[in-house]
Amino acid sequence: MNEYPNVYIVRCGETALKGQNKPYFERMLLQRIRSVLKDFNGCQAERLDGLIFVRTPETVKREDLIRRVGHVFGVDSISPAWEIDIQDMGDEEALECVSLAAVEWMDKVAKKGSAVTFKVDAKRADKRFSIQSPQIASIIGGKILRSCKAFKVDVHHPDCLLHTDFRRGFAYIYEEKIAGYGGLPLGTNGKGLVLLSGGIDSPVAAFLMAHRGMLIEAVHFHSFPYTPQRAWEKVKDLTGILTVYCGGIRIHSMNLLPVQEQIAERCPPEQMTLLVRRYMMKIARIIAEENECSMLITGENLGQVASQTAEAIVVTDRAAGMPVMRPLIAMDKVDIIETAKQIGTFETSILPYEDCCSVFLPKHPLTKPKLEDILSSEAKLDEESLIRLVLASVETVTAEPRDEL
Ligand code: ATP
Ligand code: MG
Repeated sequence: MNEYPNVYIVRCGETALKGQNKPYFERMLLQRIRSVLKDFNGCQAERLDGLIFVRTPETVKREDLIRRVGHVFGVDSISPAWEIDIQDMGDEEALECVSLAAVEWMDKVAKKGSAVTFKVDAKRADKRFSIQSPQIASIIGGKILRSCKAFKVDVHHPDCLLHTDFRRGFAYIYEEKIAGYGGLPLGTNGKGLVLLSGGIDSPVAAFLMAHRGMLIEAVHFHSFPYTPQRAWEKVKDLTGILTVYCGGIRIHSMNLLPVQEQIAERCPPEQMTLLVRRYMMKIARIIAEENECSMLITGENLGQVASQTAEAIVVTDRAAGMPVMRPLIAMDKVDIIETAKQIGTFETSILPYEDCCSVFLPKHPLTKPKLEDILSSEAKLDEESLIRLVLASVETVTAEPRDEL
């Protein structure tokens, strides 16, 4: 047997619970896995019995494969395994062959020196294989004990749990179950447009929605020349990091300055932030509809800042005209930061470039706005021409899926 695992068993997470839709979810997951592996020449992935089997040439490094597949939403766990073809063998011969491989596996474990006790777990999905699971485990365990004298059996807390799995003419041996992100395969839950600011929250919001199977497109508002070009670069960097999980992401960036200037000229300063946020929603909705996104996504978080009090969110929401997802709404900031660190966006998010919201920032923003007051201020603005002006500045780029962090 080879040092290298010749197959990776990929378990589908929640997709396994989807009843009649199960084949659909598994097909979508398979498609995603194939797509993240497409530049690894010679990899093959196929679906069998609710599992996905990935075969790779030895040129593909184990860590690279696991990292890529591990980032695919819908993957519950991955086990690097040895696959043994027992199709043409009788049951006794097959068990002998698998036992030999198991002994070889344990020899390698012994060389690492970290394990002293072991247990063999046996599964028999293929009932044509007539020897029952407890018997398989005991026969293989016995062979290991006789050959690898350093090991003892511990059925409760083994240092090494060796799995053997018999299914459809093949046997598999593996030790690890490396956890994936779970969730649902991308593309199984429509497409959403995330309002991506460059801060900590909105990338996490995009990640969480993608984790539930939603494809992501993004919109970013800047206030050039008040906001630096580097702030836009930062948003592109963040989008690049998100592609590791979300695949390619289109990002539409535009200049909101005309809106901000007119609000500053014609409306009370304390309403500034709220009026700007309502315009962001209105414009994002247009972009969403043009790009087949059925909902907006924001990183809003209840009570975090003045524009995110319950009252302010209600007033902002009224401008959207389409469902707005706020996956962070009830999270604590420490947990949002923790997630941002885990997914790799935190360090980029905290780079100190000015955001368009900090331009014209009022000294005393409203925390309990009244919709009537906001609407009467809004009536003083040339909405149609402002929106036209902002949309005329759109620049769209695609962040291509990139390799891992
Ligand atoms: P974040 O950490 O995502 O920047 P925040 O805590 O700074 O959020 P706000 O500035 O009130 O909060 O923004 C709330 C949400 O509005 C953001 O999470 C984002 O979805 C959206 N948003 C804010 N500014 C912009 C922007 N310049 N471009 C696009 N969306 C924005
Ligand atoms: Mg912000």
